[in-house]
Amino acid sequence: MNYQDFYQASIQDPASFWDQQAQLISWHKPYSQVLDHSKPPFAKWFVGGETNLCYNAIDRWLETQSDKAALIAISTETNAEKTYSFAELHAEVQRMAAIMLDLGVKKGDRVLIYMPMIAEAAFAMLACARIGAVHSVVFGGFASKSLATRIDDAKPVLVVSADAGMRGGKAVPYKPLLDEAIQLADHKPAKVLLVNRGLDAMMVADRDVDYAALREQHMHAQVPVTWLESNEMSYVLYTSGTTGKPKGVQRDVGGYAVALASSMKNIFCGNPGETYFATSDIGWVVGHSYIVYGPLIAGMATIMYEGTPIRPDAGVWWSIVEKYKVSRMFSAPTAVRVLKKHPVELMKKYDLSSLKALYLAGEPLDETTSNWIATELGVPIIDNYWQTETGWPILSVARGVEHKDTRLGSPGIAMYGYNVTIINEATGAVCGPNEKGVVAIKGPLPPGCMQTIYGDDARFVQTYWSNFAHDQLYSTFDWGIRDEDGYFFILGRTDDVINVAGHRLGTREIEESISSHPQISEVAVVGIEDKLKGQVAVAFAIIKNPERAASPELAKALEAEVMAVVDKQLGAVARPARVYFVAMLPKTRSGKLLRRSIQAVCEGRDAGDLTTIEDPQSLQQIKNALGQ
Ligand code: ATP
Ligand code: MG
Repeated sequence: MNYQDFYQASIQDPASFWDQQAQLISWHKPYSQVLDHSKPPFAKWFVGGETNLCYNAIDRWLETQSDKAALIAISTETNAEKTYSFAELHAEVQRMAAIMLDLGVKKGDRVLIYMPMIAEAAFAMLACARIGAVHSVVFGGFASKSLATRIDDAKPVLVVSADAGMRGGKAVPYKPLLDEAIQLADHKPAKVLLVNRGLDAMMVADRDVDYAALREQHMHAQVPVTWLESNEMSYVLYTSGTTGKPKGVQRDVGGYAVALASSMKNIFCGNPGETYFATSDIGWVVGHSYIVYGPLIAGMATIMYEGTPIRPDAGVWWSIVEKYKVSRMFSAPTAVRVLKKHPVELMKKYDLSSLKALYLAGEPLDETTSNWIATELGVPIIDNYWQTETGWPILSVARGVEHKDTRLGSPGIAMYGYNVTIINEATGAVCGPNEKGVVAIKGPLPPGCMQTIYGDDARFVQTYWSNFAHDQLYSTFDWGIRDEDGYFFILGRTDDVINVAGHRLGTREIEESISSHPQISEVAVVGIEDKLKGQVAVAFAIIKNPERAASPELAKALEAEVMAVVDKQLGAVARPARVYFVAMLPKTRSGKLLRRSIQAVCEGRDAGDLTTIEDPQSLQQIKNALGQ
């Protein structure tokens, strides 16, 4: 089919379009109305219909492929590997669901899941879905303060956790952090269900219960699916917090199931019986959509991986692709950059012939990284742009519909259902081709996108829908352009803009330019206050050969070279006032550059909310470079 027609149909008549897509999932009760958009910007999809995410992910496949692999849990930390068939997954999820019911969890109650990448985490998510409880997964790498704010916002009746996660060969205790978080929080969950991985954590009487013991009591549990109206809540997930306090994204049931089934078919091209491998974490939206729900809804086996990309060596992911004949893989540019630093032979020694495509998302995919992985892997690299808020790609190519080319540096064209436009921030007018503006989406958002901010409709409207004169526009808070052919380019976040003597420059554009210098492997650019110019750009770069900046003279010479590149490509106005060379850059735990913290440190301010930072040492490096 022609993608242009497919796309136009989705925009011109969303109700008929999504009515068709909705046939990809199983409904317990048919919906009476495809779309209710009578109270914009709120959109209700498949009104009156009843379905269940867990049913679509597991039960639906029991008849045709109950013995086929459903969940493959691999830990290179504990050297454990276990495959659960659809039938086995069905049994485990019912055990978990029975335990939750025993612990008093009722339909609509929130259950907070704070767990490492172990199979039980997926059981817990699916069990919540099965009984109509609302899960809120909190990334296992977060410490007590981040956890406490989420506990207070989601107010869970139950927390499912584990004594420890493992990272880089070390056990990372979770339980003490959880205890501390509950102490810090105003809301007190009634129960904590704990998976013991061998650390035998201290148990709090009357609150903490052991998973293995309760599982024993429920070996033969049969827990029927609780049918939910399509617009009831499935989960709350907090955004990454790259630009500030995380927002609690609330999602529905029916629209989400349809969006996932549809994207698995049209964008990820996955078929029942194949294996999908997303290297993300269940704490992020990719983990929700494309580790747990999406692949299973598509009847695929999904891989849950605990470990790093480079242990025991940088070939580990490719060994998994070979062993489980992975057909579709999903990762992030930051992970590819890590792999790029290791010998490519580690990838080459595996038979990767099962792999059809590698999807990358989460942050801008620079051309160097994209070209490298495309060449070495020999499969299409498909960039895709989306947000926690949307739940599935806004921009990509939908090869399941038509084979469209990708374009270097572009995450693709507008995906069906998303009426994407570029808006001039100052005038509110729609930008022409190649004119820079804010990436916005005309409502209604398609199925699968956020319903609201949990518990705060007013903040939802205020935050996302009130940025332009036209109140039917959802702001992504990202800058972008669209070329003549409909390919978009993301130029950074709207709060990452520098104003140099009246010129508005995206930090991302300057970073792209600096990255084209052969010595630079990674760079962050921020705008800092300047008495004369308002703001100036300052760059922090990681270089490939540290020898090149081993002395102040060498560093100065390299800095001049980098500045010359920017001068030539973007003009002197974009030239950074300083280029500092560092060994590490501050990132969130999801791998995104924390420019706001770098900026704060440069301006001598407090670094702000650092609860999502990967390694605090990275910020110290910035301070050292600045001589602070
Ligand atoms: P917060 O909203 O709390 O500040 P966040 O925006 O980092 O955090 P996510 O929802 O995890 O939280 O990330 C979505 C953002 O990631 C997008 O708005 C965009 O800035 C960036 N992004 C995602 N995919 C891509 C991509 N393919 N290319 C460029 N940027 C991307
Ligand atoms: Mg965001």
